[in-house]
Amino acid sequence: MNKTIEHMVPPYLLGLEPYVPGMPIEELERELRVRAVKLASNENPLGPSPLAMEAARAAMANAHRYPDGGGFYLRQKLAAKLGVEMEQVILGLGSSELIDLTSRVLLRPGDEGLTSDGSFPLYYISIRASGAKLVTVPLQNYASDLDAMARAITPHTKLIYLSNPNNPTGTFFTADALDEFLQRVPAGVMVVLDEAYFEYVEQMGYSRSLDLVRRGRNVIVLRTFSKIYGMAGMRIGYGLGPKELLDVMNKLRSPFNTTSPAQAAALAALDDVEHVKRSMETNRAGREQIIEALDRMRVDYVPGVANFLLIELGRDTADFAGEMMKYGVIVRPMRWMGFPNAIRVTIGTHSENERFLQALSAML
Ligand SMILES: *Cc1c(COP(=O)(O)O)cnc(C)c1O
Repeated sequence: MNKTIEHMVPPYLLGLEPYVPGMPIEELERELRVRAVKLASNENPLGPSPLAMEAARAAMANAHRYPDGGGFYLRQKLAAKLGVEMEQVILGLGSSELIDLTSRVLLRPGDEGLTSDGSFPLYYISIRASGAKLVTVPLQNYASDLDAMARAITPHTKLIYLSNPNNPTGTFFTADALDEFLQRVPAGVMVVLDEAYFEYVEQMGYSRSLDLVRRGRNVIVLRTFSKIYGMAGMRIGYGLGPKELLDVMNKLRSPFNTTSPAQAAALAALDDVEHVKRSMETNRAGREQIIEALDRMRVDYVPGVANFLLIELGRDTADFAGEMMKYGVIVRPMRWMGFPNAIRVTIGTHSENERFLQALSAML
């Protein structure tokens, strides 16, 4: 690197590991001239709700105007639906932006940000980018080890990230387990509950995170329109948390962080309960389809509850995922997230899953 730049950039930024996105489907199709299926980024295979598409199209008529930076109508609707106050809702350019903002607002050099190994890489990036120290605790049996995390809290800990369900393992912890954990978290520590896959989880006792928000606890709940709502390309998500903290985040965020078509699409998507239900059912059936085949092939996997599965192949998967692309199937090798012998596959439609299973079976 240019030596002058190296001295201008803070040292804690120079060593950052970049986020590694899934390969875009267009790129693979261009390279291989095959129709590909992308099961690499936990996107909804059914796409967005038709109502959302129509709303986004209609909103384009006013695209010469700046959007409502405060997202009044969407925040109002989310607040009413979720039973929180409007001032407890903040919109983000995907929930990724809210992860970044939370770390920026709460961490400074000398602080510690705590999370799990084998979890969402943006936690690591945002903690380190704020100049704070990243502290991680190993997963236990592929799941967040809340007991070990509570023990890892020090007087410097300011922020804790919990992915529930955890990406990339798909495991979850219960609301009771979280309550126990929160009793061990000191008052000056904020806990981020990243519930990007909330709508997929059917397990009893999974989450009471909204109660915590209503009671004004020091938690931020993150949800997104990127996953079950099928709008990852629109870049819109939201956070729920203490007003006073959201006030600061609102001052720091870019004033027009969400676009008017995205806000309109999100409003319409909330109305399309049928689309969400259909997406959930497609995912449930797809999970059964894949699990049944993996059992038959005697392949190990983590029984995740979200819209993806972590599959352990017992050998390094960097080349494996590359090889699978030749079959026109994009999955994610997981070394960079801490699982060198695993791939993560998103649950797709029945025929997409079939393509993946056929490629897997041919390769094994
Ligand atoms: C996909 C995902 C997000 C959401 O990302 P967006 O920025 O909303 O698209 C957040 N957290 C986790 C753990 C995820 O897997």
